[in-house]
This record gives sequence, structure tokens and C-alpha cells, in this order.
Amino acid sequence: MKTTETKSLVLLHHHLKTLRLPTVAAECEKVATQAAADNADHLSYLLRLTELELLEREKRSAERRVKSARFPTMKTLETFDFAARPSVNKVLVAELMRCEYIDKKENILLVGNPGTGKSHLATALAAQACAKGYRVRFIRTTELVTALIEARDERSFLRLKGQFAKLDLLVLDELGYVPASKVGSELLFDVISTAYERTSLIVTTNLPFESWTEVLGSERLTGATLDRLTHRCRIIETKGESYRLQDAKARSSRRAKSVPETVDEPTTPS
Ligand code: ADP
Ligand code: MG
Repeated sequence: MKTTETKSLVLLHHHLKTLRLPTVAAECEKVATQAAADNADHLSYLLRLTELELLEREKRSAERRVKSARFPTMKTLETFDFAARPSVNKVLVAELMRCEYIDKKENILLVGNPGTGKSHLATALAAQACAKGYRVRFIRTTELVTALIEARDERSFLRLKGQFAKLDLLVLDELGYVPASKVGSELLFDVISTAYERTSLIVTTNLPFESWTEVLGSERLTGATLDRLTHRCRIIETKGESYRLQDAKARSSRRAKSVPETVDEPTTPS
């Protein structure tokens, strides 16, 4: 390479660094070689490079949103076996994956027994929201209540609430696994009413509506919480028994069925 070319290249990389265009810097020479081979004009070359920069930026910011959502384990819809959970409306889930419910500030309630895929579906839906550019946080309800109770002074309490107010989607996982204290229920109600018509909520729970009073303590609070939560809400019921239990049973019955095939001769009674 000629010295002038090397100098221009050094200068170009310096400018790209100042302009914060790392993907253009990393790809410009390779794409230039390709463009020359394809006889592409200057504008096509520039278009290709800017597209690469944009794609990389979108990918990075989606990764950042997933990280700040703090999913306990990543789950996707591809690994969700709809055949094993016929009560879950696949068409509804596909519609919710478009995330329009977030723009409409609607909520999703996932109700069913433990192990029936509520957190799996909630994570898949919320991860899709991250990919589409929404700000998301996934938290176990008890963890949220504890954090609010522990934020004793006014400032840290307001800071915590401020963090939640910035979200587009808040996932409250496992509401009702542990009965909340009186103050806990009130704080939870406060989060749910603050979110009302501002932030979408996805709530997972093993509780049928009639048992909510046992967990939230007072009938008045339960009524008010359910009223806000279920107004403009899509409900998904994950009916049936635990997926792992189902899976284990299916495997053991497959094993049981395959036993005769592995036995060569019927055993003679002794
Ligand atoms: P829940 O939140 O209802 O207690 P989870 O979503 O945590 O249940 O599911 C328990 C485990 O079973 C998880 O590892 C999850 O990925 C898996 N699982 C549950 N339902 C299904 C399903 N229909 N297809 C695939 N995996 C499932
Ligand atoms: Mg769960």
C-alpha cells in the first residue's frame, strides 16, 4: 500500500473513532473490496456501511435492554411446547409477541399451577419487548416488595419507584406464592396503581382470583388491585400439571413400553 493511502486510512480511522462509528471503521476496507468487485457505486458503498453500523447498534442496545431486564433464565417461544399446554392460546400468544399491548398499556395475566410454563411465557414475551426497543424489568413479586420495604427513607423509596416508572413493561413474577404482610400488600398495590394506564404489567400467579384475598389480606385491597390489573387485560391460563412432571411421566411410560422390545425371550415361570 502506498504511503498516502496508509496516511488516509489512519486519518479515516481517527475520524470514524471521533464520530463513534466503530462498525464502519471495522468493516470499511472489507466492504470497499467487495464494492470494487461488484462494481458498486459510492452511494451503495456508503449505504451498506451505514446499514451495518445501524444493525450493530440495534443489536447492542437490545442486548443492554435484556441485561437490565434481569431475566432469571432466558426463555424463548421457540422452546415452548404448545402441544403440551393446550389451554394456552397460540394465536393470542403470537399476537402478544407483536407487543401492541404495550403501546395500549394493557396487561397480561398468566394463571396456572407451578411448573406450567407461566414464567417461561412471561420471559419470552418480555424478551421480545426488549428486542423491539421497550424498557423492561422482570422481578419476583416478593423481591419487589422486600426492596420497597427495605427502602426505608423517602429518598431511596422514591428513587426505586422512579426506576419502575421509567419502564414500558414490568413483569411481576410469582404473585401470591407467599402471603404478603399488610404493608407489603399496600406497597404492591401502590406499584400496580402507579403502573395503571402508564406501564404494562405481566403478572404470573398460581392463585385463582377467589383466593387473592388470602394473600393480599384485605378484601378492599384485593378488589382494588384486581380492578386495576384486570381492566384491559389479556388472560392466559396454563391449565394442567407441571411440565417437568408431565415430561418425566412421558419418558418413564416410553421406557416402560420399550422394555418388552429389549427382552429376547419370555421368561419361563419358575
Ligand atoms: P411456572 O412459572 O408456571 O412455575 P416455568 O415457566 O418456570 O413454570 O416452567 C418450569 C420449567 O418447565 C421451565 O424450565 C420451563 O422452561 C419448562 N416448561 C414449562 N412449560 C413448558 C412448555 N409448554 N414447553 C417447554 N418447556 C416448558
Ligand atoms: Mg414461575
